[in-house]
Amino acid sequence: MAETLYDVIVLGSGPAGFSAAIYAVRSGRKTLLLTGVRWGGQLMLTTLVENYPGFPEGIQGPELMLNMRKQTERLGVEVVNVDFEKADLSQKPFIVTAEGKTYRGRSVIIATGADSIWLGVAGEMQLRGKGVSTCATCDAFFFRGKDVAVVGGGDSAMEESLFLANVAKSVTIIHRRDQFRASHAMQERVFKEKKIKVMWNKEVIAYLGAEKVTGVKLKDIKTGKETDFATDGVFVAIGHKPNSDRFKGIELDKKGYIVRKETVDDQGLLKFRSATSVPGVFVGGDVHDYRYKQAITAAAFGTMAALDADKWLMEEGETK
Ligand code: NAP
Repeated sequence: MAETLYDVIVLGSGPAGFSAAIYAVRSGRKTLLLTGVRWGGQLMLTTLVENYPGFPEGIQGPELMLNMRKQTERLGVEVVNVDFEKADLSQKPFIVTAEGKTYRGRSVIIATGADSIWLGVAGEMQLRGKGVSTCATCDAFFFRGKDVAVVGGGDSAMEESLFLANVAKSVTIIHRRDQFRASHAMQERVFKEKKIKVMWNKEVIAYLGAEKVTGVKLKDIKTGKETDFATDGVFVAIGHKPNSDRFKGIELDKKGYIVRKETVDDQGLLKFRSATSVPGVFVGGDVHDYRYKQAITAAAFGTMAALDADKWLMEEGETK
């Protein structure tokens, strides 16, 4: 029996994936969403979300994702809880294989997200959401007037530190070398901020605390000496890994993010904001966006990808 042919296959089930699927199905497109077995993306690992508009008291991350999923299903998207193994984008229709099944799509929206890189040291798993975070924009609010630490030396670490300095009593950047990797401009802003101190040549080797984090165990890279450092919160900012390794034949940048190929019309006006190097394949969310990384921006990027896919299908003569 021939596999069903979908107008739009959405890969990924964070805010970008669900928003893309909602807009695609409401454009009258037959839409499939492959969620991944661990569906829901990074928000499934967070607690209270207070910066997603529409929830005056905030909402728990997993509840927000469950709501998005229910809304997507109610609108008629076929939602399948599988990890796809590969997406063959070299032929049309595009072919996605998952758990022995083949799905065919006239267009594909990639919304597979990115995962924060964690330190992977003792205590980290247990203390996530209990003072240990990878998102200052999301969690800084809980550290008003407190002492926090940021781990890392790139632009993300600088940005997180500057953001935290607006609310925290003090911010200590813990970096494993004696110079930052971050851009000169960001470093300058950090060095000018009186609330921010830097601990150079220190590696975090464990977290301290049981119910909530109370500090970190540090090792000096040069001397090997170990010390305990007390803090109310730890923000790990050592980078993200985009989930892009199962796509063959699509352009990635040197860090593995999917490259957007904006296209313009005859008059030079923006046509497809979320296009990729493969016509008919669109991208939304953290798998291409290393800059904003917010649920609300991911949802907006997913929406743009669905609107672009619909317009592209129309231009290809795929009527509804
Ligand atoms: P990044 O540039 O890869 O920097 C990661 C930092 O974390 C490095 O300083 C690295 O140390 C440190 N690190 C990595 N693994 C570690 C470990 N296991 N333990 C301790 N430290 C570790 O990542 P990023 O800062 O997330 O930036 C990613 C990209 O986004 C960059 O291109 C950046 O310019 C861009 N970005 C731009 C902005 C902006 O323009 N506003 C904001 C955020 C990000 P070493 O230096 O020793 O390797």
